Amino acid sequence: MSTPQWGPNWSALEEIDPEIAGIVLSERDRLNGGLQLIASENFTSPAVLAVLGSTLSNKYAEGYPGNRFYQGCEFVDAAERLAVDRAKELFGANHVNVQPHSGASANLAVYAAFAQPDDPVLALSLPHGGHLTHGARINFSGAWFTAVPYSVNRDTEMIDYDEVRELARLHQPRIIVCGATSYSREMDYAIFREIADEIDAILWVDAAHIMGLVAGQAIPSPVPYADVVTTTTHKTLRGPRGGMILCRTEHAAAIDRAVFPFSQSGPMMHTIAAKAVALQEAATPDFRTYAHSVVENARALSTALEGHGMRPISGGTDTHLVVCDVSALGTDGADAETRCAQANILLNKNAIPFDPLPPRTPSGIRVGTAALTTQGFGRDDMSVVADLIAAAVTAGKPGERVDVSLAEIARQVSEFVADKPAYAVEGIQSLQG
Ligand SMILES: *Cc1c(COP(=O)(O)O)cnc(C)c1O
Repeated sequence: MSTPQWGPNWSALEEIDPEIAGIVLSERDRLNGGLQLIASENFTSPAVLAVLGSTLSNKYAEGYPGNRFYQGCEFVDAAERLAVDRAKELFGANHVNVQPHSGASANLAVYAAFAQPDDPVLALSLPHGGHLTHGARINFSGAWFTAVPYSVNRDTEMIDYDEVRELARLHQPRIIVCGATSYSREMDYAIFREIADEIDAILWVDAAHIMGLVAGQAIPSPVPYADVVTTTTHKTLRGPRGGMILCRTEHAAAIDRAVFPFSQSGPMMHTIAAKAVALQEAATPDFRTYAHSVVENARALSTALEGHGMRPISGGTDTHLVVCDVSALGTDGADAETRCAQANILLNKNAIPFDPLPPRTPSGIRVGTAALTTQGFGRDDMSVVADLIAAAVTAGKPGERVDVSLAEIARQVSEFVADKPAYAVEGIQSLQG
């Protein structure tokens, strides 16, 4: 066996495992060939990918910098300290834990730090935009804790703060969760803080989707209001797949113990180093411009989709995502999702608030602009994106607006994205291109 390279080595992989090498290349081509509108996805930089493919992946480092279970941690310690310092600086947080393997792992640690089994937990209901880890029955959060869901207002389709207050007074939850996975509006953290203080609850903001927009100062930060903020690092923050917890000093010890040793053992040091890279990228003026463009693009896309009869829930968006009701086009979200996928437009079906249709075939779709914006698409491109979505959703239907096949729309999509590939393909020396 030859000496392994220190970093990603594309030609070696092609020789050693052509099947997997082929899959990696096919995935790159898939990303480059379509419109990636799944709101939780983004394209990480070559620098982030390089660190993910590095020898840091090998090190066992249970514990925290300066206090590890194993020897040989001096370099991974330096990486973790950088990640923590950069996150503290970027978000103005007192304390940061960068070890959670994912958003769900970060959330598990928050429950572990602050709640006991069966405690009531107040969170946005799943069909109104909440996340699986906010009390869904099929998730540990719903199995081990008592979910008390709040809703959006039927008319405004925005969070009903009066209901949040009422439920908080009635159920006296240990934790109030503020955060969502398919809710397009800013949340009023000040009101949540007031309600939490009134009943002496922990205010936890799950900013998994929006933390990149916070980093780029495109939306207000939850950090000054919350006891604890969890986030993923791979959505709008555009880093490696993983999670992160930010908290007030008084909760630091409880959070750190809840991550290790309570819910995780060895941290992924390559991912933590890649988080450091992403956090440095997110602190740049370029990233600030990016975050603002993401929101601008989402607003433009929302307006353009509305023009095609896809009503944006709550009338629009303040963030990177839009949830639209597609029922006026004579279809449902599942059908729209499948048709769009056949045209290489990747988006997901989504329930809308008070959805008359069942979860498997809900009334809505969800789209996000984080990935498209990374590729360099701007405001003016969003009407084309909306045209393509509308064409795919209605193709071949009675009363259709556009009489073209899904294959023809797929061709138009590939033409549209051709000069803005997610990842460069020329002169490929490594998986990063
Ligand atoms: C995506 C998401 C998570 C989970 O993140 P994973 O990394 O997939 O575990 C948690 N909370 C919210 C609000 C999310 O949107």
